[in-house]
Formats: sequence, C-alpha cells, structure tokens
Amino acid sequence: MKNKKKSLLLLLIVFNIVAALVFFDLQAEEEMMVVFLDVGQGDATLIRTPDRRTVLIDGGPDESVLAGLNEYLPFWDRNIDLMILSHAHADHLYGLAEVMERYNVEKVLWNGQETDTLVYRRWKSLLNNTDSEKTHKGHRIHLGEVHLDVLHPPRDYQFPEGLNEGSVVPRLVHESGAVLIMGDAYKNQEMKLMEKERECMEADYGWCRVMKLPSEVLRTGHHGSSTSTGYEFTERVSPETAVISAGKDNRYGHPHEETIATLRSLDVEIHETAKDGDLKVIFD
Ligand SMILES: [Zn+2]
Repeated sequence: MKNKKKSLLLLLIVFNIVAALVFFDLQAEEEMMVVFLDVGQGDATLIRTPDRRTVLIDGGPDESVLAGLNEYLPFWDRNIDLMILSHAHADHLYGLAEVMERYNVEKVLWNGQETDTLVYRRWKSLLNNTDSEKTHKGHRIHLGEVHLDVLHPPRDYQFPEGLNEGSVVPRLVHESGAVLIMGDAYKNQEMKLMEKERECMEADYGWCRVMKLPSEVLRTGHHGSSTSTGYEFTERVSPETAVISAGKDNRYGHPHEETIATLRSLDVEIHETAKDGDLKVIFD
C-alpha cells in the first residue's frame, strides 16, 4: 500500500512538471526565435515560429546539431516542419542527415545540385523517403504569420563546378524584423542580388516580391571569409547585427579581417559562434 502511494505521488509530480513545461511553451506563443547554433566550422540555423513550427537551415559538420535541437525544442516535439539545405558541402549537410534519421522531417527544400561525396549519397538516400522539392528565387514559404523568401539561386541557374555559388539564400520575414541567411554565397552572388533588387524597382517580375535585401540580422556568407560580405552589399542590407558562424581556431582563418573591417566600418554589431557559442535572437 505504501509503495502504491509513493508511486502515485511520483506520477503526480511528473505530471505537474510536464504541465508546467507545456504551459511555458504556450506562453512564448507570440515570439519567434532564431538560434544560430554553434556547430563548429559549419552552419546550422534553427527557427521556431510564433505558432511553434520548426525550421532547420543547414546542419553543421557533425552531430552537434542534435544537442542544439535538444536544448531549444520541447522534449516531446520530434517534428521538423521544414528543413533547408543551402548546398551539399559536408559542413552544412552532415548534421542534416543525422537529424533526418532521428526526427520526423515533413518537408525538405534544396537547390538540387548533385555532387559525389559519401555524405551526399547518404543524404540522397534519406531524401528518397521524404517529401522534398527543389527551391529557387521567388519561392515564398508561409509559416503562419512569418514567411521565408528564397532569393537565390534563380530557377534556370547554371550551377558552376563549385557548390558555394548555388547556395540557397533564404530571408526570414517577421513583422518586427528580417534575417538574411547567406549560406556560402560569394560576393558575385551578392552583386547579383543587388542587381536583381534594382531591376525590380522598374519591372515587376513574379519573383520581385521576394527581392528585398534590408534585414536586421545578416548571417554573413561563407563563415565570414573574405570571399563574401562585400561593402556595398552589406551597406544595402544595413543589418544591426551580423552573425558569423565558424569554428574556434579553424584552419581557414575565418572570419577574415577584411569582413570584420567592413562590418565595423558600417557600425554593425558582430557576433561569432566561435566566441559566443549559440546565438539566439528573439523577435516579439
Ligand atoms: Zn560552409
């Protein structure tokens, strides 16, 4: 009898803890959370929309993305509503395959550019069992009261040899601010985006509705390397905050001092995952 009472009490305590956690999750309903996960030398961005949809953009070079999901998602939620792969380099892709094996992924968007690596082949076989779609400039994904616009690559894009140039560039738009996530796109692609935005001032192509650059937060292209984050482009985006996702003491020397100098000269606040760990931005 005594044991029965004890286990009933324990059950009640557990129930109360769960109820409190659910309550606090519901409380945060109005907010949108974006976390640039510290995954070392790579990229992984987690978005939790105001109506609690989960979006994961890139997954970093190893399993560390899983710890990030564990930390920021409620423990009962094993659902990824939308997964986006910017391009098929391992520092963006590896972790996504790990997530696909452990979570229910409802939809995957990617640029469709093939490559021939082990990690890519693993991803491709996982993709066969998932609802996936090739995305391109002009694509708008509605996520309740926020949306994600895809600015690059264009629908008819001729992918070059390299993978970075074809990076999917999404811009997340919430009524209180936007986040531009550059993948590993280079200055050439940045110039192209500016050109397209200018074109849209005189013409009205179907994709023009997404072609807006100004954003409160800029996730700088290619881990802060000097190949990306040109002055003119950054000036046009005019972010308050720049996020650089790179590994501590990485062998590429990311971020490059030129990128830091550009951001400083435009008075942009700089945050680096290598120094600060996960970087969480809340929009409310
Ligand atoms: Zn990369």
